[in-house]
Amino acid sequence: MAKQLSSTVVILGSGPGGSIVAKTLADAGIHVLVLEKGPDIKQSEKEPYSLDEMNRQYKQKGMTVALGSPVINYVEAQTLGGGSEINAGLYHRLPKHILSQWQTDYGYSVSSAQLDACYNWCEDFLSISPSKTSAKTALKLADAAKANNWTAQKVPRWYKNDIKQSMSELVYKQSNITVITNANATKLKKKNGKWHITASHNQTILHIEATSVFVSMGAIQTPHFLKRNGINHNIGNTLACHPMIKCAVEYENDLTDDQLIGDIQVKDVSPHYSFGCSISTQPFLWMALQHYIKKDATLLSRSKNMAMFYVTAPSETNGRVLSVPGVSNPLVWQNTSNKTAQHLVDGINTLAAACLKTGAKAVYPILKGATPLTHTNQTITCKKQQLQLSTIHLFSSCPAGDTQHKTAVNSDGNVWGHPGLYIADGSVVCTPPTVNPQGTIMAMCRHIALQYIKQFKLKD
Ligand SMILES: Cc1cc2nc3c(=O)[nH]c(=O)nc-3n(C[C@H](O)[C@H](O)[C@H](O)COP(=O)(O)OP(=O)(O)OC[C@H]3O[C@@H](n4cnc5c(N)ncnc54)[C@H](O)[C@@H]3O)c2cc1C
Repeated sequence: MAKQLSSTVVILGSGPGGSIVAKTLADAGIHVLVLEKGPDIKQSEKEPYSLDEMNRQYKQKGMTVALGSPVINYVEAQTLGGGSEINAGLYHRLPKHILSQWQTDYGYSVSSAQLDACYNWCEDFLSISPSKTSAKTALKLADAAKANNWTAQKVPRWYKNDIKQSMSELVYKQSNITVITNANATKLKKKNGKWHITASHNQTILHIEATSVFVSMGAIQTPHFLKRNGINHNIGNTLACHPMIKCAVEYENDLTDDQLIGDIQVKDVSPHYSFGCSISTQPFLWMALQHYIKKDATLLSRSKNMAMFYVTAPSETNGRVLSVPGVSNPLVWQNTSNKTAQHLVDGINTLAAACLKTGAKAVYPILKGATPLTHTNQTITCKKQQLQLSTIHLFSSCPAGDTQHKTAVNSDGNVWGHPGLYIADGSVVCTPPTVNPQGTIMAMCRHIALQYIKQFKLKD
């Protein structure tokens, strides 16, 4: 069965990028139609950070890898609201020196003041503030930082009265936003001055006509979709991420807590890497500790005394999103340089020593073939291939800026050579932001939407 639809603006993907555009345009009186591939699952209908959440709201249940040396396990959300539904809610603005680099290297013409105005709006909209308490696991990381004279940074979050402010709850109640979930957009072409989108929705094929289209499918799916539809200029050739190595740290006392995510980060240890808290629920610890549990089954019960921490570093912007004809999923490639790999290993050694100095009994690095560290003078050395890297922060696959030979879209998100076609998601972030990215994605997408409104009004 086929169905014809039309809308002035169609937004493909409802993650933080697409949702901020939808909200901004709808507030300006523009009707938008949002297509989202994933289901609509309310925050109250699930257990946060559980395996059930991974099964229902992660693309391919979280089993997605970027090939390279070593492979990197990456995860993408597939649900109404995208990553905002499953993430930790930790908020940062882009460091100013990185914005300056973007302005110089990519011709990103958005000023610091313009971006700050967008950040201010997002902070207000999402009620961003520091929480009153911290998880027990986060306090352990704070102790390790204090003992080494590092700053334990308490990171603000998008929570209001202890409830996460996700996009599905905040954005899709407005009457001039129509959203269709379980709708997979596959084709895009321009005919007679209009954009035509094809999407499958349950048993129905949707044919949609639009004046403007915002592609907001995330840093992997956006380049994959555009390439499959013949749009290639600087699309998918500069993917980057924040690769992470994790370690489980065992203490004397029980760390189980209602607070599932730690909000402490340590960023002043080295210019090359930083530390933070990972999800430390029992199933996540058991998955990470598999190879240790095979040798010592008592870890299953001792894992309630454990915190999971990570070390992260910015990757090079050398990743690729490749689309193979006839294959529905993209081929993702992300190499890790020897230098970045060494920074991550140095980071794990520094973090392990700091934890062992402040009451940890043992540190279990999540690395192939590693053994637990129990003394501050023990360190790990390993080959790059032994690293078990993962990432939840992906970006830069279609960078924004007015330096056309380096970018996929101009500073207002418009795809070069394709009037009416925009990218608004993590793809447009020029290089790794070195901090949690959603704040920057939302601010950049707010700017893209505001520029669109200006032009829309001029045409009217
Ligand atoms: C576990 C986890 C924890 C995180 N914690 C934090 C944090 O604390 N702070 C932070 O700043 N960031 C965090 N992040 C990262 C953050 O969530 C992402 O950077 C952000 O969600 C990216 O937004 P986006 O709009 O680019 O894309 P996404 O959030 O990936 O949204 C893209 C949407 O497009 C949809 N889509 C894809 N293909 C199609 C198609 N063909 N048709 C229709 N729809 C499609 C997808 O289903 C998805 O819903 C975390 C991520 C994860 C996975």
